[in-house]
Amino acid sequence: MKKCIGILGGTFNPIHFGHLRMAQELADALGFDEVRFIPSANPPHRTTPEVSAEHRAAMVQLAIADNPLFKLDMRELARMGASYMIDTLISLREELGEYAALCLIMGSDAFVKLDTWHHWQELLDYCHIILVQRPNFAPDQTRLSAELTALLHDHYTENPDDLTEKTNGYIHMQKITPLEISATRIRERLKTGHSVRYLMPENVIAYITTHKLYG
Ligand code: ATP
Repeated sequence: MKKCIGILGGTFNPIHFGHLRMAQELADALGFDEVRFIPSANPPHRTTPEVSAEHRAAMVQLAIADNPLFKLDMRELARMGASYMIDTLISLREELGEYAALCLIMGSDAFVKLDTWHHWQELLDYCHIILVQRPNFAPDQTRLSAELTALLHDHYTENPDDLTEKTNGYIHMQKITPLEISATRIRERLKTGHSVRYLMPENVIAYITTHKLYG
């Protein structure tokens, strides 16, 4: 059996309990040996976040510090240009060799746009994809393109044991506790002076206050 490493890429602008609880439940359900949180320095499909990658990574570090399974991976901050997941996966594979299965975690909102990602057809050459349902995702947004439907059909497995038999190539869906938390809503609440307690760790809220982020 290979090691199994969960990969959670995101803007983390800011990190919240939706991310953390999802990572924990997937680690428990699928037996991840570690989950790597990889903040995107320059997200290709968004306007540059107003909060720097360094601040966003610092908040991830605070949020995961007390969980020995969770690791912050800064490789996208060290690269110039757009932060493409394919480049991240190639460099992870170079680092880990064939020793580990990589499980790229994705909410349904991210998966429906997968066919706009740089070299998206090659992603499964480096990792498995673990899909989780994001609550209250409008039906028209969840409709998959014909190409993504075919990808799902060709690579889908219901059996979690498959994920450690091979290092890459499967798509697996995993049920998790639906938590309707988004960074967008958190930023809105912070901007309008509303409380964000119980949506994210207290130490992250303290960091936001100290550094006057999202004001
Ligand atoms: P924003 O609101 O700014 O778009 P976000 O809350 O979606 O941010 P990201 O950093 O963009 O957070 O998300 C990283 C990954 O985590 C994506 O795959 C996303 O689908 C997933 N994710 C984020 N929040 C949740 C949640 N509450 N439940 C399940 N998956 C989530």
